Parts: sequence; C-alpha cells; structure tokens
Amino acid sequence: MTTQVPRDIPGPNAREILRRDQEFISPCYSRPYPAVIERGEGAWVWDVDGNRFLDFTAGIATVSTGHCHPEVVEAIQNQASRLIHMSGTDFYYSLQVELAEKLAEIVPGGRDKKVFFGNSGTEANEAALKLARYSTGREKAIAFYGSFHGRTYGSLSLTASKSVQRKGFGSLLSDVIHIPYGYCYRCDYNLTYPSCGVWCVEVLEEKIFEKIVSPDEIAAIFVEPIQGEGGYVIPPPTYFQELKSITEKYGILLVVDEVQTGMGRTGKMFAIEHWGVKPDIITLAKGIASGMPLGACVAPSSVMSWEPGAHASTFGGNPVSCAAALKTIELLENGLVENARIVGESMLLRLQEMVEKHSILGDLRGKGLMIGVEIVKDKESRKPNPQKRDGIVQEAFKRGLLLLGAGPTTIRFSPPLLLTQDEADQGLEIFEESVKKVN
Ligand code: PLP
Repeated sequence: MTTQVPRDIPGPNAREILRRDQEFISPCYSRPYPAVIERGEGAWVWDVDGNRFLDFTAGIATVSTGHCHPEVVEAIQNQASRLIHMSGTDFYYSLQVELAEKLAEIVPGGRDKKVFFGNSGTEANEAALKLARYSTGREKAIAFYGSFHGRTYGSLSLTASKSVQRKGFGSLLSDVIHIPYGYCYRCDYNLTYPSCGVWCVEVLEEKIFEKIVSPDEIAAIFVEPIQGEGGYVIPPPTYFQELKSITEKYGILLVVDEVQTGMGRTGKMFAIEHWGVKPDIITLAKGIASGMPLGACVAPSSVMSWEPGAHASTFGGNPVSCAAALKTIELLENGLVENARIVGESMLLRLQEMVEKHSILGDLRGKGLMIGVEIVKDKESRKPNPQKRDGIVQEAFKRGLLLLGAGPTTIRFSPPLLLTQDEADQGLEIFEESVKKVN
C-alpha cells in the first residue's frame, strides 16, 4: 500500500465536517491539520474523502496493535455481544481479574500486586497520587519540568508541559514541587553528562530537601521514563538508578507514568525496563487496549491497601476494554514488542543519516517506536525552530504522512507497533521530502 492524497485536502466531505465541528465542538482542542478520519487498518487511515494516510501517530501512541486489528475487533465484538457494562464498583468481572493478574505478572517487581482500573491516563495518575498520599500519610509530590501526566486537577498539578494547559484554571495542588528533568541536550544547569554527576537528581538531596521540603513529607516522585508530550526526551543512562536510590532512602514512592511509553512502544513491554529499575507504582493507559478507553494504576499489595469506598470509577475497567487489553497484550507478547524494537532501530539509523545531511535536524533520540527529532535553527546554536517543525508536519500531511509534534520543537514518530520495514521506509521518505521542502 502507498499513500494517496490529492492536492486539495481537506476535500469536500472533510470541509463540511470541519464547518460543523467549528459550530458545535468545544474549541479547546488544538488540531494541527484538518484530518477527518473515517476508517483505519494497520498503520493506515482513510479520511472522509477517501484519501489514504500512513499513520505515524497511532492516535497519539494509542493503537499499539494498529488500527482495527482483526483479533482485537473480534475480542471487542464477542464481549460486546455478551456484556458491555455492570460497573466494577459494585459487581465483579472475570475479565477484570484476568487482566489484573496478567498486569501483576508483567509489570516489573514481583507478582504480589493489585490493580485499580480507570478509563484514561489522567485517571490512572489521579489514582496513583491519591494512593501515594493515602498509603504514606504524606502530602507532597515531586514532578518534572516538561512532564505531562494529564489534565484533571490532581494530574494537572503534576503536569508542567505548557502553561496554556494550566492558564485560567485557578489553584492547583500547592504540594507539588517541580524540578528540571534529565534533558541533556538542553540541560537547565548547563552541565554535561556524566561529569555533571547527574546533578538533575542530586539536586533533590543537595538543595530541595534542604531548602524547600523535608523528604519525610514527600509521598511520591512522579516521572515519565521518557518524556512524551515534553518532547520525547530520554534521560541519561544512570538517571533512574539515582532516582530510585533516593526514593528508597527516604521512603518516597517512585511513581512511573508509562501511559505513553508503556505496552511495548519502546521495544520492551515497559520503558523503565531499559534502566532496570522497579517502580513502586506504575500507571498505564493509551496503548493498553488498542484504542478502547482503559487506564490502570498498578502497585504492590502493601501499597494498594486502601479501604473499600476510598476510590472507584463507574466505567473503569469495563469488560469490553478488558477484553481488548487482554488481546492487545497477547499480540504484543507474540511479536509486536520485538517488531517495535527491530523496526525502531532501523528507523533510527535512517534518521541519523538525515540528521547528518540537514542543518535543521538537531538531537535525535529514540527507543523502539518512540522516536523524536528536534527541529533547530542550526546544529551549533541548537535554538528551537517551532515554525519549521510545524511546517514539516504540514508538508508531511499534504504528502500523506500523519506526524505530530511534541514539546516545543520536536517531531515525534510513534507509529503502531506492527509497522513494517516497508512502511517505515515510505514514511521516512515523506518525512525527508518535507524537511527539504521546509528548509
Ligand atoms: N501521562 C502521559 C505520559 C501522557 O502522555 C498522557 C497523555 O498524553 C497522559 C498521562 C494523560 O492521558 P489521558 O489523555 O488518557 O488522560
């Protein structure tokens, strides 16, 4: 299959929907281009005018097994014809137990765990924050500049990605302290790894605990293994070991937000496995159920010991989403995680060649099929170039490749994990054409 896009997108059907969208849909969404998607198959989507696009976004890293994987569709249909909802708040579901058992097995840190199910990433993080406070009896949390943990008030208090996401919403939790992330390409301290001694973590003991908050008041540190919305930022090799040793020393819970990085995207089931560190709490959503709404907060039984009634969700862990998740995990384990690793490696090699050729391509970083490249004014100054970044995304769209930005100046590649080598090559070819056009 190849991309197929005429010159006049959006076409007539799309234009009509865009008009009605403007009339009736809340204006808070920030869509980068007018893609009105009607159907999808694998790594491909079609818009309402029949134009075919290669999808390097996977619905924001969510359709891990590709669009409408036939086995996932079958699992959803079978379950939908038996039972859609009773509510896990008051009734039991066998599929929820099956999925929780599976997650307890595959999440690093031993099988003695419990799972809380919600419907989204933000709910998974809300649950983690409430649980961390409840189980430690402490109120404060540490999070990082550039982090994105969701948009409900608790999660938004942890998020520090873009000020527009907080502007106008009044007071958030005052008990969250943000510090710079391990972002070596643009180190906030102007230091260089490893001679920095991982100062971005050391600063906790050296400054924060001494001057701002006593560590025995901190319930949790919330961290993404690779910052997603922040710009696909990968911290240095010893970052998480350092972080883990500090949390262990002070009885702070290390909450690892794998909402975007999890479920095979980075070539391992969970990205934190690249650093060999065991989280205390892990949060999951996006790719867990191939596009069905599901979020999970997974913690050791000793931590998840809140009493009945302490937390719940009407829809959370509904049986249709659980059926989709169980099938998704089966497909991931039976080849898609490995495919993400292999195809991701070859994409990184090809992108590295492009970075050497084109002056506006700056830092390239990635694991598996979670790859980002920064668009800069030039390699020497490293100055962000958001206009050209956005221009490349637009050019790619016109040529039939769906891309998204991340952070101030990064282009992210987060295709479905079943992407073939041929599809990867096609997408990167369009990406390079778009870079040339914009530069
Ligand atoms: N955490 C991370 C790392 C995310 O990338 C996102 C969404 O992009 C969220 C949490 C919030 O997820 P949701 O949009 O499902 O609430």
